Amino acid sequence: MKCRDLLIKGKAKSVYSTDTKGRLIVEFRDDITAFDGGKKDVLKNKGTYNAEVSAFFFEFLEQNGVKTHFITMLDPHHMVVRKLEMFPLEVIVRNIAAGSLVRNYPFRQGTPLDPPLIVIDYKDDTRHDPMLNDEIILALKLVTPAELKKIKKVALKVNRLLAALLASQGITLVDFKIEFGRQGKTIYLGDEISMDSMRLWDKTTGESLDKDVYRFEKGDVMAIYQKVTQRITKPVKKP
Ligand code: C5P
Repeated sequence: MKCRDLLIKGKAKSVYSTDTKGRLIVEFRDDITAFDGGKKDVLKNKGTYNAEVSAFFFEFLEQNGVKTHFITMLDPHHMVVRKLEMFPLEVIVRNIAAGSLVRNYPFRQGTPLDPPLIVIDYKDDTRHDPMLNDEIILALKLVTPAELKKIKKVALKVNRLLAALLASQGITLVDFKIEFGRQGKTIYLGDEISMDSMRLWDKTTGESLDKDVYRFEKGDVMAIYQKVTQRITKPVKKP
């Protein structure tokens, strides 16, 4: 399969049409950005770590009954995916209070959220991705009521599956962002699930293992991305 036209160039990924009907290629670039694009860098191999972790999670979720856009990897930077009509929604699931939740609301950093919180933002950089509520989502007809219900149900299932998997690898899933789209009447998980879109803490040390290392200059981002990729995709089996 070959890339044809560049369809979308996002902050860290590019999407190409292909010579195969119903298939797109997502390129995971080495660009990294934070704070609405206010901080930017190019970090060698960053794209491959995010692609490898995303592919691993998509396959794991498929095996557990979650429909995803993932088809296969063409090479370490390029993922073949099912073509979807994406919803302009950023669906965030939070197990522990951190990030913007602590900045914007009187939650104390590190407070467990049980049940987990689902927050849905409107994906629009020009508006700085404002938080939505169900009424606004439906008034804007971004999805149907049935789709909204399904998206929330799948988001919580993804959370249960990933939180358990990561916990077995000594990692706490603090929060993450996922995106969905539809093909016909079926809803699929799209985009990526990687260190750029999750907040991960080492269960023992509390160390950040995600983009917060880049955002807040907590250490060597690429060394941490490499280590966490290895930890997630090739866990050491305990005897
Ligand atoms: O910044 P905030 O605390 O709202 O982020 C919650 C989670 O969603 C974090 O894991 C963050 O990396 C992810 N996120 C993202 N893309 C955005 C906003 C948040 O991947 N545009």
